[in-house]
Amino acid sequence: MNLRRRKKDLTFWERIYIPEIIKGLALTLRTMFKPKFTVEYPEVKFIPPASYRGRPVLVMEENGKERCVACGLCARVCPPLAIEVQAAETQDEKERYPVKFEINMIRCIFCGFCEEVCPEEAIVMSKDYELSFSSREEALYGKDKLLTPIKQVQDRIDFLRHYK
Ligand code: SF4
Ligand code: SF4
Repeated sequence: MNLRRRKKDLTFWERIYIPEIIKGLALTLRTMFKPKFTVEYPEVKFIPPASYRGRPVLVMEENGKERCVACGLCARVCPPLAIEVQAAETQDEKERYPVKFEINMIRCIFCGFCEEVCPEEAIVMSKDYELSFSSREEALYGKDKLLTPIKQVQDRIDFLRHYK
C-alpha cells in the first residue's frame, strides 16, 4: 500500500535516480574543499583547550617542590579510590608534604573531583590524553610521573580561577 503511494508521488527524474546521484556527488565534491575539522592523529597532535580534563597531575612550583600539603581531601573525594597520599612533616612554611602520592590510572575516571576539592590548587587536570600501560604496575603514577611544572598547567589554573 505504502509502496504504491510512494511511486505515485515520485517524479520521472526521481524514479530514475540519476539526478539524485549527481546531487550526492556534487555534495561530496563541495565537502572535499571545505575546511577539515578532523585531525590526522597521531601525526598531528590535538592541542586541547584549558577546559579539557586530561589526566590529573600535581603542580610543581618553580622551586621544584610540590604545592600539595597532603591534606588528603582529594583521596577522600575520589569516587573510585584511585588516590593514595601519605603525609610527612617538612621544615617549609606549609609544614606537611606528601612523601608518597600515587594515582592508579586504571581506576581514574577523569571526573575532576580531586581538582575541585583541592584547597591549594595543587592537583589539576592536565591536557595529557595519551595513556598506555602494559601492566597494572605501570598504571600506578607516583610523584615522578605526576609532578608537572606550573608553567605547563598555568592556563588550567587560570581557567579554574575564572570558572570554578
Ligand atoms: S579525576 Fe576523579 S577519579 Fe581521577 S583521581 Fe581525580 S577524583 Fe579520582
Ligand atoms: S592534592 Fe590538594 S587535596 Fe590532594 S592532598 Fe594535596 S593539597 Fe590535599
